[in-house]
Amino acid sequence: MLKVALKLSENREVILIKEGELFLKGLNKKNFEAALIKNIKGKLKSLGEFKIVKAQSTIAIIPEEHFNLNLAIEKISSIFGIASFSIALAVEKNFEAILKASKEYLKDVLKNHKNFKVVAKRSDKNFEFSSMELCKRLGEFLLNEFKNLTVKLNEPEVVVYLEIRDSFAYLYYKKFQGAKGMPVGTAGEAILLLSGGIDSPVAAFMMAKRGLKLRAVHFESPPYTGQRALKKVEDLLLTLEKWTGKIPLHIVNITTLQQEIKKNCPENVLTIILRRCMLKITQSIAENLNQNFNCNIKAIVTGESLAQVASQTLGALGCIENAASMPILRPLIGMDKDEIVKIAKKIKTYEISILPFEDCCTVFTPKHPKTNPNLEHILKQEENLNLNFLLKEAIKN
Ligand code: ATP
Ligand code: MG
Repeated sequence: MLKVALKLSENREVILIKEGELFLKGLNKKNFEAALIKNIKGKLKSLGEFKIVKAQSTIAIIPEEHFNLNLAIEKISSIFGIASFSIALAVEKNFEAILKASKEYLKDVLKNHKNFKVVAKRSDKNFEFSSMELCKRLGEFLLNEFKNLTVKLNEPEVVVYLEIRDSFAYLYYKKFQGAKGMPVGTAGEAILLLSGGIDSPVAAFMMAKRGLKLRAVHFESPPYTGQRALKKVEDLLLTLEKWTGKIPLHIVNITTLQQEIKKNCPENVLTIILRRCMLKITQSIAENLNQNFNCNIKAIVTGESLAQVASQTLGALGCIENAASMPILRPLIGMDKDEIVKIAKKIKTYEISILPFEDCCTVFTPKHPKTNPNLEHILKQEENLNLNFLLKEAIKN
């Protein structure tokens, strides 16, 4: 555990972070916390100097001089693994000091409201008052100081929180929702099939939220797809980074592969065969990264959603996933398009995704795709291709 002996020369505003998914125990919890702290440090390091104090599922960020607190709030709201956070006043653990600080710190908010309540919690059991007593004493003190106030336990206008913890007492009333989920990296590593569409960036967001560290593969077919399509994918990744951390991108040229598929296979199974090839290439890339570049990729993520298009019927998905032995994660499988769009808008990828640049799949889309393909038939059609050679060439590119 990270314990810092800090002495405050004066009361100071800090950020108090509550970890998510508290049912985690033992070693898992330790790893979870270490990863979360690492992610927080990485995210905030450009904002100035700060210290981190951790105790009982709470992490306090203690800013040093010139630390940009407002920017920090924005950044913290997109770190997975955080249930909620607040701006709090860290005060010396002395009840008189707490009362004095509360009067000053809460003045602006309390004088402008009609009712309030106090929620107090004593984590440090050596402190002189129990949680109940703290509530009562601070409540009475504030009632006396602010004559405009009454106590309202049910939906008050202001909730004043007081927490007595290891290092300090914390006083706060500003509470923000966290991004929830698990810290990125704690669930392992996966590789994402990223097109320029609406779905796959949302799939990235959802899997990063469950703690996956991601890499992405994008397939292009120049000259059918151009530089602007590529720029779109790069912009998507930059936007996603806010939530997911850095996502390295692998770009694979599949022009020849697509041309060969089109020339040698029946039109109604083009997309299925192409998707199978995408999976095979992606898995090869993952295996190579695992063997030679110290990666530990254990799954492939796609933006597929059941029945969204012909290549995403149950039959089609079965034929496609048969091409890879790694597990395929499809976080959007049970979602409607409008639910996916809602998330895309929230994470700001939507505006980029709807830009009208060609994707390699739209260029070769069959007019009448098979909605209920048969795996044996597909495998037979693939025999018309020199797949080994074509896939190797694509990976080389
Ligand atoms: P999105 O491409 O984001 O899903 P979409 O509905 O246009 O929107 P589909 O064409 O249905 O996507 O493709 C299904 C999935 O296949 C994608 O979510 C993505 O994971 C993968 N995929 C499709 N095209 C590409 C590509 N060019 N590069 C990498 N992955 C792709
Ligand atoms: Mg889709």
